[in-house]
Amino acid sequence: MIDYRRLRVALLGAGAVGSQVARLLIEHADELADRSGAALELAGIAVRDVDAPRDVALPRELLTTDAETLILGSDIVIELMGGIEPARGYLLQALNSGADVVTANKALLATHGAEIFDAADQVGASVYYEAAAAGAIPIIRPLRDSLAGDRVNRIIGIVNGTTNYILDRMDIEGADMAGILADAQRLGYAEADPTADVEGYDAAQKAAILASLAFHTTVPLEAVHREGITGVTRQMMDAARHAGYVIKLVAVCERMVGRGAASDGEAISVRVYPALIRRDHPLASVHGVNNAVFVQAEAAGNLMFYGAGAGGVQTASAVLGDVVSAARRHIAGGAGVGESTRANLPTVDIGQVVTRYQITLEVDDRPGVLARVAGILSDGHVSIATVEQTVQEHTTTEPSAHSAGDAGSARLVIGTHKALEQDLGETVARLAEDDVVERVVSVLRVEGD
Ligand code: NAP
Repeated sequence: MIDYRRLRVALLGAGAVGSQVARLLIEHADELADRSGAALELAGIAVRDVDAPRDVALPRELLTTDAETLILGSDIVIELMGGIEPARGYLLQALNSGADVVTANKALLATHGAEIFDAADQVGASVYYEAAAAGAIPIIRPLRDSLAGDRVNRIIGIVNGTTNYILDRMDIEGADMAGILADAQRLGYAEADPTADVEGYDAAQKAAILASLAFHTTVPLEAVHREGITGVTRQMMDAARHAGYVIKLVAVCERMVGRGAASDGEAISVRVYPALIRRDHPLASVHGVNNAVFVQAEAAGNLMFYGAGAGGVQTASAVLGDVVSAARRHIAGGAGVGESTRANLPTVDIGQVVTRYQITLEVDDRPGVLARVAGILSDGHVSIATVEQTVQEHTTTEPSAHSAGDAGSARLVIGTHKALEQDLGETVARLAEDDVVERVVSVLRVEGD
């Protein structure tokens, strides 16, 4: 048996992820020591309530409510409490005392990442956060290390399992969102208050983290444009399927050059919204609660990282990988490698984004309507790529606000070429006000071309 140097590990939090990390640290101690080159001694586990029932049996003597004392003298501090405070204060305390830290806390990194990375730089320590962006999927290390010599141009990620589960079932079953959300809550895939997931907040935090890494720029959470999935209807899903697409909530991190960029040089756009994805795109085959991150790099081309985006034991895998890395660095010595934020690229407003769109309109079914709609689009610098027209059966005897005389209704599904979001928004507003348009049914971006 090799007599490894001992490293003192403090664990903050023993919930869904923390309890699994504690179990694996204890059960796999010998293997982890061989891989790290250090004996990882779990010095204690900070929790709110040492008597709270836990799914995993943990040694009672390791549990404490005194996180500050536990952190003192630790070599590696693993933060799995979640939330901003006291997690932020504990991480800063750990870094200031020279410990390396491992965290899965996307909310904290997306809002206070710069402060935490600066604190690590000051003392030459490292911050590891593989579990913060897409659970068990290795994506932080590939972006930080494997692709460090390349230029990432775009990331499109399905980074929220709850919304992917909901949209996937709406697509497969042709069902409404409400019943599926209730199922997701029953199965533990969605919180009782699902706002963070369905309104895109969770995905926006992950997008900020991924964009910061990929573009070597600090991307504040406020710079991420965010739209959730609550406006996605069964009818929109059916129409998408009919047109050869699926609707997914995507986090898009994009390097922009030339038109659309806020400055003469490069800029970035970071945005979260439900978008149409072509059915033959690899992201279309991401089902259920799974996550995937599709990376387009200048030299490497297209790469796809796929797997479990959440789950206690799955996420613990990513955390333990970080713990081994932290231990190896501790043994090797030297300063940790800081975050690279030197590119410092500006982020552009959503209005400056250039993408393709699908606009669905209900219009009067009479001669000249198509030409009129095409004219409004052309005046607004939105060029048409495809048009599909179907005549609607009348479902009501009440004429709509705009309908003229006896004209029936037709549905127009217009696919555009790439257009500036600002132009598109103004053009859709003009369409909505025009006499021939009864209703703007939906406007969706198309991603992944
Ligand atoms: P969780 O189940 O809610 O567990 C939180 C743990 O932290 C509990 O053990 C709790 O103690 C402890 N805690 C909370 N506040 C504390 C305080 N003030 N002082 C001491 N201990 C405190 O959370 P989780 O699901 O494991 O998530 C942990 C982190 O991982 C979060 O940042 C989350 O975003 C991230 N993450 C989670 C997943 C996932 O699938 N769950 C996936 C990726 C990332 P008690 O047990 O005594 O209440």
